[in-house]
Amino acid sequence: MTMNIMLATNNLNKVSEFNKIILKSRNDINIVPASRLSPSDVDETGTSYLENALLKAKAFAKCSEFPVLADDSGFEVTALNHCPGIFSARYHPTNPNCSNNLNYLVSQLLDMGLNSSRALYRCVLVYLRNYDDPVPIVCEATWEGTVKTTAQGVNGFGYDPIFYPDNYKVSSAELADDVKLLINHRAMAIQKLLSKIKR
Ligand code: IMP
Repeated sequence: MTMNIMLATNNLNKVSEFNKIILKSRNDINIVPASRLSPSDVDETGTSYLENALLKAKAFAKCSEFPVLADDSGFEVTALNHCPGIFSARYHPTNPNCSNNLNYLVSQLLDMGLNSSRALYRCVLVYLRNYDDPVPIVCEATWEGTVKTTAQGVNGFGYDPIFYPDNYKVSSAELADDVKLLINHRAMAIQKLLSKIKR
């Protein structure tokens, strides 16, 4: 029997990405989009990925008949003291969007006289069986590599054009979607979670 899990997001692309990753190893789990009763937005006021993911999971679980899965992710650069981290989506000080955030990060590295640094993407997942679940399942994974001040590729979003994952000669914006869905931080965190959800 198929088990439905609601993803704590209003982003249908994310629902589709999660389903594609899960289908690679399980066909008994179906990620469903938020219901009409779900919150339109949840303020990410936490001070950690886990806190933010829990805030989203709880808010959506209030209106879900299914278990709820929430994620929070970000990009961490060693030379920038592991910033932007949980602030990845709002890194540019005045006009945060994907390209401004990326250019701001590049300018910070260049200001330090650097063309590259170690970096990683991190994903934290929280799975709530129901709103009052006393022991949520928490899984975390990272995708490690190098950030460079030269951008390449048009696939993906966020910091992908300047992130060069270990063991690949290209940026994550040059990797095929199919490859990314096997190796990135979300894919790894989801695989850990699946091993903890009973069939
Ligand atoms: P979210 O928690 O998935 O919404 O991601 C927060 C932010 O982290 C995004 O807005 C991006 O800046 C960055 N990010 C997380 N995952 C990725 C990824 O796979 N590629 C590019 N940027 C990402």
